[in-house]
Amino acid sequence: MTSPHTTNNAGIPVESDEHSLTIGPDGPILLQDHYLIEKMAQFNRERVPERVVHAKGSGAYGVFEVTNDVSQFTRADLFQPGRSTDMLARFSTVAGEQGSPDTWRDPRGFALKFYTQHGNYDLVGNNTPVFFVRDTIKFQDFIRSQKRRPDNGLRDNDMQWDFWTLSPESAHQVTWLMGDRGIPKSYRHMNGYGSHTFMWVNGGGEKFWVKYHFKTDQGIDYLPQQDADRLAGENADLHRQDLWQAIERGDHPSWTLYVQVMPFDDAPDYRFNPFDLTKVWPHGDYPLIEVGRMRLDKNPEDFHVHIEQAAFEPANMVPGIAPSPDKMLLGRLFSYPDTHRYRIGPNYAQLPPNRPHVPVHSYAKDGPMRFEPARTGAPYAPNSYGGPAASAEAHRDIAGWRAAGEMVREAYTAHREDDDFGQPGTMVRQVLDDAARTRLVSNVAGHLMDGVSRPVLDRALRYWRSIDKETGDRIATAVNGG
Ligand code: NDP
Repeated sequence: MTSPHTTNNAGIPVESDEHSLTIGPDGPILLQDHYLIEKMAQFNRERVPERVVHAKGSGAYGVFEVTNDVSQFTRADLFQPGRSTDMLARFSTVAGEQGSPDTWRDPRGFALKFYTQHGNYDLVGNNTPVFFVRDTIKFQDFIRSQKRRPDNGLRDNDMQWDFWTLSPESAHQVTWLMGDRGIPKSYRHMNGYGSHTFMWVNGGGEKFWVKYHFKTDQGIDYLPQQDADRLAGENADLHRQDLWQAIERGDHPSWTLYVQVMPFDDAPDYRFNPFDLTKVWPHGDYPLIEVGRMRLDKNPEDFHVHIEQAAFEPANMVPGIAPSPDKMLLGRLFSYPDTHRYRIGPNYAQLPPNRPHVPVHSYAKDGPMRFEPARTGAPYAPNSYGGPAASAEAHRDIAGWRAAGEMVREAYTAHREDDDFGQPGTMVRQVLDDAARTRLVSNVAGHLMDGVSRPVLDRALRYWRSIDKETGDRIATAVNGG
């Protein structure tokens, strides 16, 4: 095989891959060695800032196919019967940095981008149906408590439990995290959840509240703590490697999408606040309805271009889908595009993983690294020269819900069965079997015995007794040495 001649970035053939230009073999390097300077300068700029959260991830392209008719609930193009839509998925850990092990205990990101006929639909979920906090104003504090200390640069279990126990709304997500699903066997062996409540709007303008569940067709599987600890040292990229290799060998992973649908008017009187991200809707109340299947069948051709520069944003909602009053979702509508502008640059939407598969008729123009020409002669609206014109019809879903009242800073309205410990208690007592409960006790005790000091430790034991008295007692016994 003949190799192509090396060129510089301008396509000009270069003289050497090995020797810089000097005056005599032992002389100084010359400034006119433009190729050497280009190489050094390019190398210094090879990184974009890693994501503040979800820095370590992997992804692949695929297709989403509708298998059931849910048009009575939404007019969204990608969910109409018979539709098949190209998509991109990125899975990730949350707190670890780029090089961190894939097998650390952590929730996993489950971010999806669907290239629909009405533009990109991004569903930026996790492998868990709930979250640690319910108000977006606490998110930054939560993440800081999980990442590194400012003084010594170390992660710190004391800091984690301090925040969790002072924020009892975290109990459901912490119970989930400390159980088996807190370390999936691979990205292929976990479910994905939209987590938030969203609004769906059908062709007649009727509104519904929905929750998304992507169930893995590979089967749920997990790694016990000891195996995960060992594997973290042996192969930090275990899950990245697993996903890549499965797709390379044609073993294309798939997930079946189900939704829970709540009639719009059920929300005020439902037993749980349906917009609270720390709660699920029990399946007995709102059963799963099948929608379709996503299958990942194509690895990225270049990891940096397609995965590192992939920019998911919950604000990308297509007609037929709209936000709910979930305060975490509303904060994320701002935060994601903001971080992409910082991390990648203001024209990130033009890059290959982010550009829609339909024409863009936006009035955006110019800015760093823009390469798509503006498609309108008159760069303003309204104009008399045939420029794009918006219509209220396309956006009738945005009207969303009705809200009125004084401006307040208050918790959600409490519903009949709202409390922070009820649903995690149900999980411990009714969903986990004896062996899973024993592993939960061992995982929590191990974590608490690794650097958690009093009074945080005492509060953590009270927190677990509030979730489930017996489980809390067992954890206390393990921590206090019997
Ligand atoms: P169900 O018995 O109908 O559902 C229980 C759910 O628990 C299933 O979705 C199952 O997921 C999931 N599950 C099983 N093992 C674990 C585990 N080790 N860690 C986390 N989740 C697990 O009960 P309900 O819907 O009435 O919910 C009861 C409790 O189950 C809730 O309080 C909540 O803690 C938990 N849960 C509920 C979910 C929901 O959306 N309703 C989703 C996930 C958890 P799968 O079937 O996919 O294996």
